[in-house]
Amino acid sequence: MKSGNLGYPRIGQDRKWKKALEAYWSGRLEEEELHAELRAIRLRGLQTQKEKGIDVIPVSDFTYYDHVLDTAVMFGLIPERFGYAGGEPDLSVYFAMARGTREATACEMTKWFNTNYHYIVPELEDTEPKLTKNKPLNAYLEAKAELGIEGRPVLVGPYTFLKLSKGYAAEQLGSWIDRLLPLYGQVLRELEAAGAEWVQIDEPSLSTTLEAEELKHVSHIYDRLRTEAPGIKLMLQTYFEAVDHYESVTALPVHGIGLDFVHDGGRNLQAIRDYGFPVDKLLGAGLIDGRGIWRADLESKLGTLIALTGLVAADRIIVQPSCSLLHVPVSAEQEAALEPTLREALAFADEKLEELALLAKAGRSGQDAIRSELEAASRSRIALQRSPSRNSKRVNEQTAGLASQSASRSASFAERREAQRIRWNLPLLPTTTIGSFPQTPEIRSARRKWRKGEWSGAQYEAFIQAEIKIWIGLQSELGLDVFVHGEFERNDMVEFFGEKLAGFAFTANGWVQSYGSRCVKPPIIYGDVELTEPMTVAETVFAQSLTDAPVKGMLTGPVTILNWSFVRDDKPREEVAYQIALALREEVEALEAAGIGMIQVDEPALREGLPLKREYWPAYLDWAVRAFRLSTATVKPETQIHTHMCYSEFHDIIEAISALDADVISIETSRSHGELIESFEEQTYEKGIGLGVYDIHSPRVPGPEEMTVMIDRALRVLSPDQFWINPDCGLKTRKAEETIAALRNMVQATKQAREKYAFEATAD
Ligand code: GLN
Ligand code: ZN
Repeated sequence: MKSGNLGYPRIGQDRKWKKALEAYWSGRLEEEELHAELRAIRLRGLQTQKEKGIDVIPVSDFTYYDHVLDTAVMFGLIPERFGYAGGEPDLSVYFAMARGTREATACEMTKWFNTNYHYIVPELEDTEPKLTKNKPLNAYLEAKAELGIEGRPVLVGPYTFLKLSKGYAAEQLGSWIDRLLPLYGQVLRELEAAGAEWVQIDEPSLSTTLEAEELKHVSHIYDRLRTEAPGIKLMLQTYFEAVDHYESVTALPVHGIGLDFVHDGGRNLQAIRDYGFPVDKLLGAGLIDGRGIWRADLESKLGTLIALTGLVAADRIIVQPSCSLLHVPVSAEQEAALEPTLREALAFADEKLEELALLAKAGRSGQDAIRSELEAASRSRIALQRSPSRNSKRVNEQTAGLASQSASRSASFAERREAQRIRWNLPLLPTTTIGSFPQTPEIRSARRKWRKGEWSGAQYEAFIQAEIKIWIGLQSELGLDVFVHGEFERNDMVEFFGEKLAGFAFTANGWVQSYGSRCVKPPIIYGDVELTEPMTVAETVFAQSLTDAPVKGMLTGPVTILNWSFVRDDKPREEVAYQIALALREEVEALEAAGIGMIQVDEPALREGLPLKREYWPAYLDWAVRAFRLSTATVKPETQIHTHMCYSEFHDIIEAISALDADVISIETSRSHGELIESFEEQTYEKGIGLGVYDIHSPRVPGPEEMTVMIDRALRVLSPDQFWINPDCGLKTRKAEETIAALRNMVQATKQAREKYAFEATAD
């Protein structure tokens, strides 16, 4: 029995990778230096895996930006606008696709399955694919020559690659498969010629819901790869969920199948029990959680491994993580500042490698071979489990029974609308913003000074108040209708709340790649979540004291806080969401009691929590909606609840959005070219809604005419009585001048629209 890995974090210790890339982009690092730095990080990662005793080490999982982009570039799938002239694409083309240039907009970026990692979407145009370089081969040769490592090259599989690409119609999938397979064949044959025995071929798309028609394509791909490169062994790797159509996938002509035994709801093991596992294949047993940060319960993992050895010959099993370790931070060694019980219970990538080696050892030599490590793992888990932070009597009493409660407002939407209309008497097409105003370098530096103790709390507070005052003044000058305080005191929309709630911890160096060089440091929810002090009341009330216009309170919602954190694994996510919801409810009630009459609860991450398989959507949406409602339902009818989501693909979850029962929702639309608006032609939506009238992701200031087009388009399907006018998302990344100019245009467009639509509004 061997241990194996599927992918190692690229970012290196202390985000060295990010720093090197950004230095290169800004011209502070020469190309040669960049190659040298990244090579050192890459080799360091390989060396660590070797030192930790991993038998099967992946190569070519490393990247200069993103592994899907690597695959597209390797196959010469470079859109024309990047001016690629053939040959081996140089770094400037590669980074232009990722980041855009003045002449060519970057390729689209989107979420990698249900993770927080973003990949670059390949565009298939009519360019004929061709092999521009063999990246896995280079990586394979390098590991062998430099470190004596016989690595296992990783490739994104053809099915997943095409499923993630755009620029072709569904019926062209077959012809694209036929164009790409000879290239995959060539990559594999060259690897074989260089001495590679195995290749890991990643097909996470096989863990989504597959139609019978799609399964035919998958069979065709693997039949054909077998003839293209008969001599090389393929480890077909699935992850993030149970494999769909277990029997057909395990019957494909490959030499090994990798399955996720962590995020599969127990179904992969059950499928092996029900249908058996092919005797001629290796099983990649994804036992260690590649996405969570908790030390494994080795005893229970060993139990699963023993169960597997009753079904599959032990020497045909590779013990591996459930997916690439790309989704967890590099090493927990630097987290000495954390409370020891928590620190002891953590396992990042390097610690997971140790767990893999231990499990494989136990699989070979029996449980006694790792007795002391088993005991240590269980001790650390028990210690955390027993810690007071996980046993808040108050929280547990409050959350008991919540799963069956619906949490409704005390009045219907129609009644609330009337009460709110009387309370504010807002004009037709009210204008507002999404919450944040520019986070300038001065604001960030003020926060640093305060954190370091150079500034007192009072000094920092006075600084924040001064910012709020400036922007309340600006909003009033601009003529907006509903104000915000501007979120100047917030570093990040989740971290800010996590720092104030009990049950959260923050690592020193727990970075994971989000997209390109951008890394995030998700909070850790390790204990019961409780509100210990009001989080937003002071700033909101201060802002409200400066104006007669309504100031919207601004909170991050329970589902978003959950989805953007590392979450404890001893409780269902649903229950943790309810705990956060109840803490937020106290904050909502405190805002209301302090006279704040509009409260926005942002849920930008609600959609990304959707399970990969559609059959699990209803259960997720049910508890996610309940969590949102728990946090917002207790307010009076005249208190207006807003929410915000920054994506537009919500066609298929519109019922859930409506079930949130928010009085007003704002949604991004300006980049989606009205796709969302079409869904309102098919489904009616009666509550208040603002579809972003301009894109905040670009420094460009759109003119009022452009915004008028957006408004007119929306008002073809929505009523002027329900429509709000706002930008797509928060303005924290924009400069003050851009923000003011764009909002001025927005107000101007609104004034014209009011004249145009006044009659229509009063007429119905
Ligand atoms: N209120 C937040 C802001 O304006 C919303 C951010 C988001 O949707 N991601 O910054
Ligand atoms: Zn947003």
